[in-house]
Amino acid sequence: MQHIVLARRPEGAPVAEDFRLETAPLPVPGDGEVLVKLSHFSLDPYMRGRMDDAKSYAAPVPLNGTMEAGGVGEVIASNHPGFAPGDIAFGMFGWASHGCLPGKELRKLDPAHGPVTAALGVLGMPGFTGWAGLMEYGRPKAGETLVVAAATGPVGSMVGQLAKSLGLRVIGIAGGAEKCQMAVETFGFDACLDHRAYDDAKALRAALADACPDGIDIYFENVAGKVLEAVLPLMNVGGRIPLCGMIAWYNAGALGANQGGEVDQLPKLWRTILVKRLHVHGFIITDHFHRFGDFLKQVGPKVAGGDIRFVEDVAVGLENAPAAFMAMLGGGNTGKQIVAL
Ligand code: NDP
Repeated sequence: MQHIVLARRPEGAPVAEDFRLETAPLPVPGDGEVLVKLSHFSLDPYMRGRMDDAKSYAAPVPLNGTMEAGGVGEVIASNHPGFAPGDIAFGMFGWASHGCLPGKELRKLDPAHGPVTAALGVLGMPGFTGWAGLMEYGRPKAGETLVVAAATGPVGSMVGQLAKSLGLRVIGIAGGAEKCQMAVETFGFDACLDHRAYDDAKALRAALADACPDGIDIYFENVAGKVLEAVLPLMNVGGRIPLCGMIAWYNAGALGANQGGEVDQLPKLWRTILVKRLHVHGFIITDHFHRFGDFLKQVGPKVAGGDIRFVEDVAVGLENAPAAFMAMLGGGNTGKQIVAL
């Protein structure tokens, strides 16, 4: 089998030398374990955090350890009564051609229900993140205005489509004209602004103010950085900010805590939260998995019926995973980034 390990911890943006492709003997499943030959695995922004040796909500990938990822594939050997060769399963197998895990950690997928890659995006962790964050912390109401960036990604596109279906005005922010067009035409956003087209937060804010004449009630936070700075002053009193991610700062080291600009903005930020009585709620999706069944029941039929649409960006070959991952962190992906083996 082949797998990709963390060769060294990145300083700033990851580079090719931070990863290494290795070959290892095929694992032999022990008692209760299942061996899977992967067809696809997922590349997600959270993996950047796992590359740092920093205290966080999850342990870092150890040096020379396999990069972490959710994947899907076919069972080729099983010592678990719930799985037989030929079954399709999802599990946290990592950036690898094969994986061996206890059967109790796997989820069986029915290929009759649609493409198995959906379990990595729209009907997997990212789609679930959009649903849970919006419904629990966004508390959307018809007639309100919602803004979400990384609008064509699996989290942002789920948030935008759900909010539209609930009667909200939905403004996306995305990188480039093509993605903005996709947000409107494929995902049904009311409008989408290209954050790259504005030199600074002030210019972006002016465009957002035009697109949101009644202010912003919900800012679903995926990116932080310039977008956050543009959005905050436009928040309405009592607005909600489900704080999901801050990808603009993932490569900044210590999450930008020492980037002069951000530190200087702290008093202003705190005052905005106070004066606008904002509800800012950070969340980590692993705390919510007891609701995954509810999500699949609610959203699964909408995906099957085409009411919730999804776009996938597929890189082919394990050896191309690092390049696809590095590109994704800078917006090089269009839709859910997946690796096909
Ligand atoms: P995407 O597939 O949307 O990929 C990330 C996108 O972020 C890029 O394509 C790019 O989109 C955008 N981006 C990158 N840098 C910047 C920047 N400086 N300014 C603005 N946008 C930027 O990712 P996901 O949908 O998988 O994830 C979205 C967010 O949700 C991430 O922050 C992620 O970490 C977070 N998340 C949090 C979870 C939790 O438990 N809290 C769980 C899952 C995801 P574009 O080109 O359009 O700008």
